Amino acid sequence: MFGACRTSNEHLRPVFRIVCAGLFFFALTSPSFAQTAIKITAARVWPAAEYTRITLESKQPISFNHFLVNNPERLVVDLENTEITDTLSRLSARIGADDPYIKSVRVGRFKPGVVRLVFDLKAEAKPSVFTTKPYGEYGYRLVLDIYPAHPVDPLLALMETDSAKDAAAGMNVPQQPAKAEKAPEEKLAKRAEPEKAVNPHKGKAALDMMRLVTIAIDAGHGGEDPGAKGRGGTFEKDVTLSIAKRVKAKLDEESNMRGMLTRDGDYFIPLGDRVVKARKVQADLFVSIHADAFVNSDARGSSVFALSDKGATSAAARWLAKRENEADLIGGINIDVKDKYLKQTLLDLSQTATINDSMKLGRAVLSELGGINVLHKGMVEQAGFAVLKAPDIPSILVETAFITNPEEEARLSDDDYQDKMASAIVSGIKRYFANNPPLAKSKLAKN
Ligand SMILES: [Zn+2]
Repeated sequence: MFGACRTSNEHLRPVFRIVCAGLFFFALTSPSFAQTAIKITAARVWPAAEYTRITLESKQPISFNHFLVNNPERLVVDLENTEITDTLSRLSARIGADDPYIKSVRVGRFKPGVVRLVFDLKAEAKPSVFTTKPYGEYGYRLVLDIYPAHPVDPLLALMETDSAKDAAAGMNVPQQPAKAEKAPEEKLAKRAEPEKAVNPHKGKAALDMMRLVTIAIDAGHGGEDPGAKGRGGTFEKDVTLSIAKRVKAKLDEESNMRGMLTRDGDYFIPLGDRVVKARKVQADLFVSIHADAFVNSDARGSSVFALSDKGATSAAARWLAKRENEADLIGGINIDVKDKYLKQTLLDLSQTATINDSMKLGRAVLSELGGINVLHKGMVEQAGFAVLKAPDIPSILVETAFITNPEEEARLSDDDYQDKMASAIVSGIKRYFANNPPLAKSKLAKN
């Protein structure tokens, strides 16, 4: 309404201002204004060890204030010009006793027109509170991400769960996570050296003797972002997590490999954050797992993608990268934090060497996938996937099958097929390492 109070005609302006002021006064005094109070129409809670997210959704823009109170720890959020709807009244029932960060929430009328939410926290927290504009099926959202004040470092977590294997493989795992910041550049320099001719027998020996390698396995989507949906009600985010967990289990069975999941539950992680996590554990490879979608339910088959540094290899690949990159808009990210990710992931390094390795990994995995499913296209395609932008980690995105094809949707939900898919991905990774033995970590190389 007020947005319409604009005119480019200089002569009309003074009169126009008076009319606008009058409209504003009418709006404030009119009984109909009370009816325009914001209604929260949906509330979702996504508890996870990493952070708990609460999303409040409305058809109208949400305006809010928030602050933290210590001893005991509380997050206070004031919703302005908001009605207490059933959705808000029932919010406390949605907080589980096992929520890692939130003890309880109290909802009440703080003063006329202001609803106050008081979250009693279990520990010191660093919340990120922000709003997002309508996108996809979502309206306006207020997002409360409750992060712990002292988060667990992913590399330390990986080392704790896996120290026995490290010792067995005689691997030098950095003792301090801070060292993870420098190593990737050194690794990149190593990888850029010209390749020696591949001897398959030598490759096999290299695989047997190779150092412990870390594979980041990225289950696409999660939480607020369901990914593609099948007609039978299957969500891409569930299929990807299930297959990713199987890949990790199979990698962990190998004496010289270990898997690191970028997420292990149903919660959202921004694309840039997935890359940052892989770099923090100095992953040797990054494999993002997805399920494809198309308007035509006949589309079928598995495919593998890598990053491109000079445009997409086809219109379909470009379209797919655009759709997968929308995950951040659907999941909802704090724009202020997004800039930080961009700075972290778009380093001033040539990605050519990494992309060459990504293509080799992609071809190795694609050839294994051909053994269990038809291939959507018999070559590794390239496009600008945001999740594949680690400058120093060969990265691929696997579209396991089409969730929009009823036959493939059924297979994607099937334990047996998920297991075969995971085995094929692991075989592809092993095939890649057989021909491209991992270089010694920088610390070893200096000895
Ligand atoms: Zn996806």
